Amino acid sequence: MERGQAKRVGEVATLNVMIHKPSFWDLSLAELREHLATMHLPEYRARQLGRWAYRRLAESYEEMTDLPASLRTRLAAELPMVTALAVAEQCSGDGSTRKVLLRLADGNTVESVLMQYDPTDAGRGRETVCVSTQVGCAMGCTFCATGQQGFLRNLSAGEITQQVLHFARELKAKGRQVTNIVFMGMGEPLANYGALIKAIEILRSSDGFGIGARRMTISTVGMVPMMRRLAAEGLQVGLAVSLHTPDDALRKQLVPTARFSVAEILAAADDYTAATGRRYTVEYALIEQSNDTPELADRLATLLKGRNCHVNLIPVNPTANPETRRSSRQRVLEFERILQAAGINTTVRVEKG
Ligand code: SF4
Repeated sequence: MERGQAKRVGEVATLNVMIHKPSFWDLSLAELREHLATMHLPEYRARQLGRWAYRRLAESYEEMTDLPASLRTRLAAELPMVTALAVAEQCSGDGSTRKVLLRLADGNTVESVLMQYDPTDAGRGRETVCVSTQVGCAMGCTFCATGQQGFLRNLSAGEITQQVLHFARELKAKGRQVTNIVFMGMGEPLANYGALIKAIEILRSSDGFGIGARRMTISTVGMVPMMRRLAAEGLQVGLAVSLHTPDDALRKQLVPTARFSVAEILAAADDYTAATGRRYTVEYALIEQSNDTPELADRLATLLKGRNCHVNLIPVNPTANPETRRSSRQRVLEFERILQAAGINTTVRVEKG
C-alpha cells in the first residue's frame, strides 16, 4: 500500500473511532470470534482474519484478497483496522537500533524501538522490539524524560500490538522476524494491566502473532500487587524490576511515586520466580554521584545474595534534569566489579545508540 493510501485509511478509521466503533486490533481472538458472530459471520472468518493480520501482517482488509470484496467493504466500515502510522524515525550510527514515533488515531504519539543483536557464541541473533504501554508515564522517575512529561493516557491492547507489527512488517520484507518483545518503552506496563495482558495474549496466541511468552519481558518500577497478580496468570513472561538503589530513602527521591519498599519489591519478584521458574532481572540505572557509589554496590550485593536474579546496569541517558548525570565509565565498571566479586550475576547494558 502506498504511504498516502495508508494515511487515508488511518483518517477514515479515526472518524470511525469517534463514533465508537471497536477497532479490529483491540479485540482478542476470542472477542473477534464473538464480534463476527454478531455480524452473522461464520467462525472460520475469525481464523482467516487472524492469519491475515498477525501472520501475513496485513494492514488493511483490502490486502485480504481471499475475502469477498463486499465483505472487505463491510468489515472496513463496521470493524475498522485503525493502523498507527510512523511519523518520524531515528537510527543509531551503526544501524542496529531504530526508534520510530507512531501516531495513534487520536493524534497522540508513542515511541517504539527495534534493537538488532548480532549472533554470539552464546546464542543466535535477536530482533527485539521495545514497546510503550502508555502515552507518557505517571511514575515520575527523576532521571527519565518520559517521567518528566507526565501521564496522558493508557494505550489499548491494539495500540500495543501494533508497535510490534510495525517492525514485524519491516523485518518480513528483509526475510527476518521479531524474536523478542520487551515492555520497557514509555509508561509503567503494570499500571495498564488489562490492555497489557490482552496484548500478550494476542501476541502469543497460535491464532495470533504466535511468539512464545518466554520471549517477552515486562519491566516494572515495582507495583507489588500487580506483580503478584501477574505471577498468578501462569504466563512464562520474563520480569524485570527497575530497582535503581537498595536504599529506600534514595529510591523515594529517584522514583517519587514509589509506594513499596525495596524489600517488598524483591519479595514479590522472588515469588514471581517461584511461580514461573524464571529468573528475574534487576534493572539499575546508574546516576553519577547518586546511586553509583561503592557503598550502594556493597549493599545491593548483600541484598541480592542467594536470590535467583541477574543485575543489568544501565548508565542513565542524559535528560533535561541536570542532577541526573550519566555515571562515568570508570564508576560503572567499579560498580559492576563489586557485584561480580560478591557472586552476583551482573552485566552492563550494551549501548545500542
Ligand atoms: Fe520513565 Fe519507566 Fe519511570 Fe515511567 S516507570 S517514569 S517510563 S523510567
